[in-house]
Amino acid sequence: VTADAATCAPCRAETLDPSNRRYGYPFTNCTHCGPRLSIVRRIPYDRRHTSMAAFPMCADCAREYEDPLDRRFHAQPNACPACGPRIWLETPDGERTEGQGDAIDAIRSLLRQGRILAIKGIGGFHLACDATDEAAVRRLRERKRRYEKPFALMAENLAVIARYCRLEPAEAELLASPAAPIVLLRASAAERVADSVAPGQASYGFMLPYTPLHHLILHELGVPIVLTSGNVSEEPQCTDNLEARRRLGGIADAIVQHDRDIVNRLDDAVARVIDGRTQLLRRARGYAPAPLSLPEGFEQAPRVLALGGELKSTFCLLRDGQAVMSQHLGDLENPAAYAAYGEAIALYEGLFEYTPERLAVDLHPDYLSTKLGRERGAQADLPVNGVQHHHAHIAACLADNGVPLDAPPVLGIALDGLGFGADGGLWGGEFLLADYRQFRRLAAFRPVPMPGGAQAVREPWRMAYAYLRGAGDCAAWARRYAHLPYFEYLRTRPTVVLDQALEAGINCPVTSACGRLFDAVAAVTGLRQAVTYEAQGAMELEAAVDAGSLDERPDETGYTFIIERGKSLWHLDAKTLWPALLDDLDRGVPIGFVAARFHAGLTQALAKLIRELTDAHDNPWQGRVALSGGVFQNAVISAGLRRRLEASGFEVFAHRQVPPNDGGLSLGQAAVAAARAVAARG
Ligand code: ZN
Ligand code: ZN
Ligand code: FE
Repeated sequence: VTADAATCAPCRAETLDPSNRRYGYPFTNCTHCGPRLSIVRRIPYDRRHTSMAAFPMCADCAREYEDPLDRRFHAQPNACPACGPRIWLETPDGERTEGQGDAIDAIRSLLRQGRILAIKGIGGFHLACDATDEAAVRRLRERKRRYEKPFALMAENLAVIARYCRLEPAEAELLASPAAPIVLLRASAAERVADSVAPGQASYGFMLPYTPLHHLILHELGVPIVLTSGNVSEEPQCTDNLEARRRLGGIADAIVQHDRDIVNRLDDAVARVIDGRTQLLRRARGYAPAPLSLPEGFEQAPRVLALGGELKSTFCLLRDGQAVMSQHLGDLENPAAYAAYGEAIALYEGLFEYTPERLAVDLHPDYLSTKLGRERGAQADLPVNGVQHHHAHIAACLADNGVPLDAPPVLGIALDGLGFGADGGLWGGEFLLADYRQFRRLAAFRPVPMPGGAQAVREPWRMAYAYLRGAGDCAAWARRYAHLPYFEYLRTRPTVVLDQALEAGINCPVTSACGRLFDAVAAVTGLRQAVTYEAQGAMELEAAVDAGSLDERPDETGYTFIIERGKSLWHLDAKTLWPALLDDLDRGVPIGFVAARFHAGLTQALAKLIRELTDAHDNPWQGRVALSGGVFQNAVISAGLRRRLEASGFEVFAHRQVPPNDGGLSLGQAAVAAARAVAARG
């Protein structure tokens, strides 16, 4: 079973050719393209085991299917208007208004009128509207209850995308690849879509049409459309027709249905090109379940099933030197996502005839994936390996870069939101001497309390308060800089209660997470006091960076950090950055420059710490540095740190096919557990 592939050029041409028998047919496909994982129920992969089983081939299609010289030879989902699935348009209560013949015209005219459509796709339903229609996009946000998180866009072709974004060759290639991911592209000033598409962002997530239905809808439409997952807020996207009426009927003005079942839910994949290098941020449709070849040394590794993390969850089946990673399955705390996660594990075990010999889980005792793995281990009497979160991040990066199992250790830099530490603390800014088997923590960001615990993640102003209190006389700053938006906001907050909690250490767990520093800076600069989606503060801070501003003011560089050389652990401390940052804001320095100085300062500090660690420890990592964790989705940090390190002679491993965020954890867990098992066997 392979990954679903975007409509190939010949199939697209046939669909748009009035003389072809597949003219206007939304399910045209061939051996090179079409649905795969999304329609399969079990192996062997042939039509009777897919949701195409309900559609017996007509004589014409059967002839193509049997002909070794035909492009559709043994194309399991082969179909045509005479025998295959059909679309129709219906009202939100399920009353059919247009059949296949008229549906496309009706869909296009509804989009032009600013209506919101639910559209059944390959891996799930989407919600769509004209991306240039501000009122329509706003209506969609309100109905979907997704107020700020950027919406993905789809455009007919690269020429349309180029009107809105700066497009590098590697980005164009990625957009047009068979996986057809959403690619994050720098917005250019030439033309803009509606402001509500991506508030606070400097980039748009664009994809190209990847089914004939998309091609038919977008053909000469002239404008991009929003194409976002068909769900309310953070739930998994709908896949079933009745469910779509129930859950999306209140959001969409009309529903585009079809009668081929979506067996496996697949979200759109997300990728970004940083300095010419592709980095997957969400591994999903178009990528899963393609196996990744593991590096040398993993050939004899046992079959490890790794259960991943909690947010952006995936799992991974390791065997015979290969790793099969699942598609992105979302936040397991959501009951529907957790159910889908369990089903997907069973499906993959069936598809790959896989029985694990051991399990790997995160050390966090409350992750649902950890609990599931531990239960299963107990029931099936299988060993369960706990793998520290940031060690798993680094191991995933090593596997992603083909580093052999027995290679010498690297210096792993794992920067993310939060992960369970080996000491039970909340880590997330870690410098680890690591190989696949083990790690030693050499340095970390100076821990800072999170006032209110998880609430401090949702409300960056709390993190900012904790940072400022730890860095100097916060009360004096609040008076001196009273006019700054952050301190104005702070006056409306219960800081007395916070002071008490911080002094008594009540519900104030400390964390070394780098992601929390981004939140704090986003709050103090006035960009973001409370978030509506994960990492919003960090994303908006990156978006705010005025990249050219540092070149324009060469004598002012990044904010400074302090490196503290502790006996057993070094710390990177941000306390010196705050007075400089507040002073900049007070002088009216533009946010774009402040954000640039923060990014430059952090990049310089990371590079300096890496150089000093390398000297102090006598370089056991032989100049090899691995970068992982969600913070490395930040292109300014990723590209900047790579350039600095390479200029100092380091070899840098960054993520490619596997996300640097928690979507990559399962691969790292599997690699660590496998390496330990190989070592134990001697
Ligand atoms: Zn094709
Ligand atoms: Zn047919
Ligand atoms: Fe993480």
